[in-house]
Amino acid sequence: MSESTETIFNKIIRREIPADIVYEDDLAIAFKDIHPQAPVHILIIPKKPIKSLVQAQAEDINLMGHLLLTARRVALQAGLNNGYRVVINTDDDGGQTVNHIHLHLLGGRQMTWPPG
Ligand code: C5P
Repeated sequence: MSESTETIFNKIIRREIPADIVYEDDLAIAFKDIHPQAPVHILIIPKKPIKSLVQAQAEDINLMGHLLLTARRVALQAGLNNGYRVVINTDDDGGQTVNHIHLHLLGGRQMTWPPG
């Protein structure tokens, strides 16, 4: 992964490229994934540009909790009353492609295990 913290997600936060934003507050923003892997596929990201879970620090504890509860809020908003999955792909082996930490909220179909 590149070391740059400037990513396409920063451009979405700044409204420089379009995204279907479903939730926003002072700390986080959530938008529909452009290549959905499930009927509901929403990304929840912090406005702070943390590259991956590896770079999250003790000082980020409230922010990380906020992201998880934002995923819960967005899932309720999307009507995912029968469950869902929250995923954080982390660095190369985790399959992370955008270097700005993000939670995938996936729902609307039966998930399988193990993931690919
Ligand atoms: O976990 P990973 O880094 O692979 O996820 C990045 C996600 O960001 C992908 O699911 C991709 O479809 C999504 N994406 C997006 N809008 C963009 C660029 C990427 O929803 N403009």
